Amino acid sequence: MQQIKDMISKLVSFDSVSSKSNLAIIDYIETYLADHGIESQRVYNDDGSKANLYASIGPKVAGGVVLSGHTDVVPVDNQDWSTDPFDVVEKDGKLYGRGTADMKSFSAITLALVPQMLKADLKRPIHLALSYDEELGCLGAPSMIDEMVTTLPPVHAVIVGEPTLMQIANMHKGVNSGRVYIRGLEAHSSQPHLGCSANLYAAKLMVELGKIADELKENRLQGVDLEPNYSTLNMGLVQGGIAANIIARDCMFSWDYRNLPEDDRAKVIDRIYDCAKELEEEMQASYSDASIRIDLLQVPGLKPEAEGKAEQLCRELTGLNCVMAVPYGTEAGQFQERGYSTVICGPGSIDQAHKPDEFITLDQVQKGTAFIQKLIQKQAQ
Ligand SMILES: [Zn+2]
Repeated sequence: MQQIKDMISKLVSFDSVSSKSNLAIIDYIETYLADHGIESQRVYNDDGSKANLYASIGPKVAGGVVLSGHTDVVPVDNQDWSTDPFDVVEKDGKLYGRGTADMKSFSAITLALVPQMLKADLKRPIHLALSYDEELGCLGAPSMIDEMVTTLPPVHAVIVGEPTLMQIANMHKGVNSGRVYIRGLEAHSSQPHLGCSANLYAAKLMVELGKIADELKENRLQGVDLEPNYSTLNMGLVQGGIAANIIARDCMFSWDYRNLPEDDRAKVIDRIYDCAKELEEEMQASYSDASIRIDLLQVPGLKPEAEGKAEQLCRELTGLNCVMAVPYGTEAGQFQERGYSTVICGPGSIDQAHKPDEFITLDQVQKGTAFIQKLIQKQAQ
């Protein structure tokens, strides 16, 4: 247990907030693995400031299990922490620190058990997959998964260790985040006929999005503990214009569409783009340089798999008979999209994630450890 606690403290001590480079923590993990004779592969981002890392322990054969975690954490700015978020403090059976729940403990347990994996004489491998920029919208993992798919022998299952209190999650919604940039023409507010109001067209597009949000409520998924059990669309941010007496030249607003994994998200997104196109043409009739641009970031949902290998494996390892859905997005859908059987199962609670005084209970650390130890036994049989 002490080695595991030490590894959690070590990983938390790296300030790997998503806005910063994660290379220090990657260096540490790479060196640690190399010290145990394990070679790792890095997959960098475009400017080389961040990297994913994956590695295999055991023989290079089919039937491996991928343990997936992200190395980045959410910021601590303007949060009221009782202790230094990057210095783990143990109190009342809990370990406090940024990333203890989401989700450095899972990675730390896995790393601390590497010596046991080596001793166990694995018949099938355990692969580690550690990503960057998960908290920015799962930006890092896809390039790593692409490489894993081509370089690793066929994989049996992927376990994403996001905090589920060691329950098995086989479903979450997809995330589709749009930012709409509308450019019109400024003029004195008393002369609207000489300008083209970006705010007005933002409002027209938002009304359409509001209609879509209402329609989405009609398709509810029954029999699943998902709250709410329909796809949602929210507009969280609007910034437009600079003064009350000026026709707004620029307006930006965001929308966040969370789709049920079975929903045809392309259809909804096409509808948004079509509406934007129509409105852009309407603007251009009065001002030819007017424009509406949309930046889109998408993370696929996780679909329940019929007879899923990952789900069966986790049922066996945990002894649990039930599965659940989680409300948040993860990298699990990205693994699944590339053909890997995937579920989410990890220690700690999402209730503590992203908050000040984030913690994981020692009980959860123990459960997570027992889980990985069972996996080691399983892969050694
Ligand atoms: Zn996470």
